[in-house]
Amino acid sequence: MKSDRGKILILVGAPGAGKGTQAHMLEQRFGMPQISTGDILRVIAKRDSDLGREVARVQKSGKLVSDEVLAEVVRERTVLADCDHGYILDGFPRTISQAETLEVLAREQDREILAIYVRVERHELMSRLTGRRVCPNCNEIFNVHSRLPAVDGVCDNCGHGLFQRDDDHEETVARRIATWSDQTKPVYDYYRSTDRLVTVDGAKPVDQVFREIMTAVGICEAESA
Ligand SMILES: [Zn+2]
Repeated sequence: MKSDRGKILILVGAPGAGKGTQAHMLEQRFGMPQISTGDILRVIAKRDSDLGREVARVQKSGKLVSDEVLAEVVRERTVLADCDHGYILDGFPRTISQAETLEVLAREQDREILAIYVRVERHELMSRLTGRRVCPNCNEIFNVHSRLPAVDGVCDNCGHGLFQRDDDHEETVARRIATWSDQTKPVYDYYRSTDRLVTVDGAKPVDQVFREIMTAVGICEAESA
């Protein structure tokens, strides 16, 4: 093994693949924080510092923050102690150039990079997303295929009527999946071609997917706090 330092994880998964749930479990059980570059940039842009002003200026102009700034943001955040056991990146890298920038950071930190692809068949993604029904009152989420409310169209918690989000209509879902696939392919190929991509079966129950991810990452249940 290269080092004992926690890894840099990149979770790859289509909308509806359950990537967010898995990231949350990794954070809860193994103290691997999820680092969202989008969230951090929003905070930094409000700061009274050179970097803060630079980020605010770029965002105001409607342009994208440069790879160098993004890498600096990730570097600054990931030297904090809560990243000792490794961390999960969200929203970065999105391009090959960003992936190459991340290699430099990984070398500096003496960490390995591992991409985990949570694979779910397209028809299953469609069914998960188009089946979603949401309570506008308490935000509870149901599913007409897998989590039916006791009374059709009515929230179990508060009795409010359920509705389908615009985002979850069939055409929109199909477009979201296609866009995701186009955008993700270069980064997916990058890690696959360098033997750092592991595929887990996202169609399995949440706990089983989680165990597969733990095995891929090389963490044992015994390490769990
Ligand atoms: Zn409700």
